[in-house]
Amino acid sequence: MSIEKMEATELLGFNKFEVDEEEPHIVLDKEICKKCQEKPCLTVCPAVLYTLDKNGDISFDHAGCLECGTCRVMCKNKGIQKWTYPRGTFGVNFRYG
Ligand code: SF4
Ligand code: SF4
Repeated sequence: MSIEKMEATELLGFNKFEVDEEEPHIVLDKEICKKCQEKPCLTVCPAVLYTLDKNGDISFDHAGCLECGTCRVMCKNKGIQKWTYPRGTFGVNFRYG
């Protein structure tokens, strides 16, 4: 039996998401984010959901969130106004095999 080594992006492609369009489980205070100098969320999110838009402001999309909590831990400036797990039946569905 041989085991194929896969890239992280390929592995992430196995996940399925049920996106809650009505109630995002992570909400930012963009005014606080604007003043945040370090912006660690840009580098620590494994799903790369935090990006800078053309105005230099944080842009964020909760769809594709792996629910790992890294952004919550690393955000020291309280820009994350709300962080919860998605409502029942919503969110990531990890597929194995
Ligand atoms: S919980 Fe994890 S995957 Fe979701 S936005 Fe935060 S760092 Fe990214
Ligand atoms: S989410 Fe937190 S770490 Fe990211 S820019 Fe806003 S305040 Fe800074």
